[in-house]
Amino acid sequence: MKALLISCLTVAAAMAPRAKASDVKPSLEVQGLGSGGPRAFGRAGSSYIVLVDGTPRILLDAGPGAFVRIGELNIDLRRVDIVLLTHLHIDHSGDLATFFNARALTSDGPVKYRVFGPDGAGLFPKTSRFVDLLVGDNGLFGYQKTFGVRETFEVRDLAINLNTGITKIVDENGLVVDEIATHHGDCPSVAYRITYKGKSVVFSGDMDASAVANLVRLAKSADLLIFNCAVLDPPNSPSQLYELHTPPKKIGAAARESGVGHLLLSHIAPDVEESENDVRNSIHASYTGPVEFATDRMRIAVEYRPQGAHQP
Ligand SMILES: [Zn+2]
Repeated sequence: MKALLISCLTVAAAMAPRAKASDVKPSLEVQGLGSGGPRAFGRAGSSYIVLVDGTPRILLDAGPGAFVRIGELNIDLRRVDIVLLTHLHIDHSGDLATFFNARALTSDGPVKYRVFGPDGAGLFPKTSRFVDLLVGDNGLFGYQKTFGVRETFEVRDLAINLNTGITKIVDENGLVVDEIATHHGDCPSVAYRITYKGKSVVFSGDMDASAVANLVRLAKSADLLIFNCAVLDPPNSPSQLYELHTPPKKIGAAARESGVGHLLLSHIAPDVEESENDVRNSIHASYTGPVEFATDRMRIAVEYRPQGAHQP
């Protein structure tokens, strides 16, 4: 009887489903919402959700169309209370109010957002004023703060001087966010690095080549670098765009210099989309790691992929 019981247990153990590698949740993941820029050609404006241990936690930019993608992908917003804005151009912030609207409706209790974005200059308000203009007491959508649940907005304006250095803005339960100032023409801008359980992803935001040294410092040895790629190498894009964006050759050099494990190109412009092979070759002139082009709904686990792993 005992022998029969042991043999039954052995059979049962052999038949029990084993945890497959694919069942193990990556500690840090990136979910694309929008991989485009200001042009309307099918891609949503720039926006990502960062997942920690499988749970959506951070909204990175809120370009137009993010709201629709959140619904299409059935993303659970209940714990997305951190918002990182790289800059305040419309193609990165147009859906911020709609995000607050949708997030509030997922909650039974008060919601406290922490919003980070650049300080103001010239035509661009600082991020705290931007949020106030949207959802403050006298803002465009002042009703939002009490729409469903009570919402509070803790907004931090980040330094925009290129000499400021790397600043840690979130450090809780192993989730760390660092940022550094970049440069995007006359629009104040910053880049972010998110780290959790030894994995790191860096978002360049929109930046011209004058800020590459800062980006390289922030991205040092990161597993994944998401670099916005909105122009072709000179002279193939309008010259004024090089005062706003970094061309592929310099993106490749930055990826190589920072030693990142994997490069994802986002904020794709129509001419970049049409010249994918040229862009890829330009980047591989210096960077030997894997290079991918973002799509709106793609989801990527943040993990190191050794350089030389790409298929030429
Ligand atoms: Zn943009």
